[in-house]
Amino acid sequence: MLDLIKTKKHALIFSHQGPDGDSVGSSVSLSLYLTKIGINNKIIFPDHYPNFLSWMSGLENSLVATDNLQLVFDLYNKSDLIFCLDFNHRSRLGNDLNKIISNSNDKYVIVLDHHTNPENFGDFEIIDEKASSTSELVFNFIVSNGDLKLIDIPISEAIYAGLITDTGSFKYDSVSSSTHLVASKLKDVGLNHVEVHNKIFDQNSVSKINLLGYALQKIKIDSESSLAYLVLSEKELSKFNYKKGDSEGFVNFCLSIEGIENAAFLREDKELIKMSFRSKGKVKVNEFSRKYYGGGGHINAAGGAIKKSDLNKVINELIQNFRSFCSV
Ligand code: 5GP
Ligand code: MN
Repeated sequence: MLDLIKTKKHALIFSHQGPDGDSVGSSVSLSLYLTKIGINNKIIFPDHYPNFLSWMSGLENSLVATDNLQLVFDLYNKSDLIFCLDFNHRSRLGNDLNKIISNSNDKYVIVLDHHTNPENFGDFEIIDEKASSTSELVFNFIVSNGDLKLIDIPISEAIYAGLITDTGSFKYDSVSSSTHLVASKLKDVGLNHVEVHNKIFDQNSVSKINLLGYALQKIKIDSESSLAYLVLSEKELSKFNYKKGDSEGFVNFCLSIEGIENAAFLREDKELIKMSFRSKGKVKVNEFSRKYYGGGGHINAAGGAIKKSDLNKVINELIQNFRSFCSV
């Protein structure tokens, strides 16, 4: 693989819409690595990454497509190597980028991902549903090229950020002994894990903490489907000066309630209602989200969205959908 990659001149690294810790961490670590092995590259985010990740060294080599679509288009035309990280359906790029990337016959496309139901559009794909994170796959990719020695502190920080955000700091089922081994190797490099945890989880704005306090009091329960759910309207969010990423992790509070097996968080956006689903029982929330909300993800953590409409109606439908999904 390394020999093939080294024949390429201009790489682009695509992340999915609504970049999260793993898509940003995997993109940044791969970008820093490609630069080290002499491959010119740029990270393309479909839309803005949240502020709690903006400390990551290597992000300066990224572009946000919503701000620079023409530039992304020009770079795409020039590129001969495309990486798609943390997604395996081109629809996850959003309409504009999806159109651009669909015309990729003259480029070598590599997909590294850990989600289910791949579209299989790449020329070379490493899709490992059992992997904790795409960042773990990037680590393995670098090691399989014989380049462990090239992993320095910025690369280790980016990979570690992906590991902890996608595993709830090493507590989810997806964590394996290999995940811990990766963390161990990153520590050997000199990673300051305390600093990374602090930068990601402990730099909250007062308004975000106030929003959390408000949100926690709004959690409701549907006992019939063991579902705890939380809904925040655009108006409520703007009252707390909502910034992208401020509601990250809210859905986990729903799931932490005693006796609750499933959780849903609905966030009203400008045009969409974005949904997050979690489960700790046998309900496959990725299938639920795919069936009703055009989404997907992992068995225990998935997302989806629908066009904005009356929130109460959407909530009632969600509960009905969830009850009927659980009853089959
Ligand atoms: P979150 O709820 O944190 O946004 O996402 C949970 C998981 O589901 C992540 O792995 C994320 O990539 C995936 N996911 C979130 N939204 C969507 C979506 O609209 N479609 C698909 N296929 N996956 C999603
Ligand atoms: Mn991921």
